Amino acid sequence: MFEPHPEHILLTPGPTPIHPRAQQALIRPMLGHMDPEVFALNSEIQADLRVMYGTEPQAFTALLAGTGSLGMEAGFANLVEAGDEVLVCANGSFGSRMAEMAGRYGARVRLVTAPLGEAIRPQDVAAHLDGVNMVAVVHGETSTGVLNPVPEIAELVRGSGALLTVDAVTTAGMEPFHMAEWGVDYAYTGAQKCLSAPPGLAPIAVSERAFARFSARRTKVPLWYCDLEGLRDYWVDHTYHHTVPVNLHFAFHAALRAALEEGLVERQRRVALLGQAITQTLAPLGFSHYVERPQDRLPTVLALRLPDGFDDAGIRQALRRREISVTGGLGPTAGVIWRLGLMGESAHPAPYRALMVALEDLLGERGLAGRFDEAVHGVLV
Ligand SMILES: *Cc1c(COP(=O)(O)O)cnc(C)c1O
Repeated sequence: MFEPHPEHILLTPGPTPIHPRAQQALIRPMLGHMDPEVFALNSEIQADLRVMYGTEPQAFTALLAGTGSLGMEAGFANLVEAGDEVLVCANGSFGSRMAEMAGRYGARVRLVTAPLGEAIRPQDVAAHLDGVNMVAVVHGETSTGVLNPVPEIAELVRGSGALLTVDAVTTAGMEPFHMAEWGVDYAYTGAQKCLSAPPGLAPIAVSERAFARFSARRTKVPLWYCDLEGLRDYWVDHTYHHTVPVNLHFAFHAALRAALEEGLVERQRRVALLGQAITQTLAPLGFSHYVERPQDRLPTVLALRLPDGFDDAGIRQALRRREISVTGGLGPTAGVIWRLGLMGESAHPAPYRALMVALEDLLGERGLAGRFDEAVHGVLV
């Protein structure tokens, strides 16, 4: 029989532990998806998402009934038509996923790449902008722990007339995101990453400019389920489109409220300080930053190069037996790095202190937990 451990510690780059208020909201009794109370709840979610993404006051926001990848797919399905030129910034596996999806919706894909562990260079984007209908970029590349320079790229794209799609899965909700100010047209995330809500919802935001572009399409959106028109029927006009997962909406609403109450600036500070404390604690063991340039480091996914001879798989298995989940590298970085998640509820000292205690024991390394306590002391509670 499946029996989950009550105190499992998730240090993965998603999913993250469910926020206590979201967990509580999950036990509310079911309501219908057309219930007036649910529409009131949805309106609050839409308003809070405008704050989280930093949109124009009238921007369309909604939850899609699926994970972050559905948010990604919906952007291409709605805003790309066959034959469009789409420039995709691909410096990791989620950038590659974007390119794959754009291609499936008929885009002619141009790739701008960067070596693994390095950010996309804005000048490389500028050099390939001619005739482009859309630029797509992952803000925080989870596969390598790299932060791409979205504000700089947005500045270049804004003047070109192309739409800008940003994967905000590892950033929105954990730090201020300025969709309107930067000039982002479409952004999405997944509920289970920075907001610590259960997986199964993709919060999206669409700029007025992008919605106008969508409305001028020559062809029907090939993906009925996420057609913005159908979504607007439900989220704005309150007519039936599909049965939304109401219980997930309850939990998402609670988690997003909690994030905004804490404040995005405060959350950003919490992540930065904790990341610093973890790195400082592990450095004497031979762990070091995988991403060379400090400005290219994604604060919410701490990518640490493993010490020489470190038994990656063995140690992670031993940690798993102690109810601690840690994620290694992906593809070319497998066995080379650990990716420690600092999103939402995993970005607190307590779960990382538990990791230090376990490593102290597994590696026979005295004083690790004490060093961690010292590093976080006074800066975080
Ligand atoms: C997790 C993730 C996704 C995909 O989200 P799913 O919820 O797994 O579908 C997309 N982009 C980035 C950057 C991610 O970290």
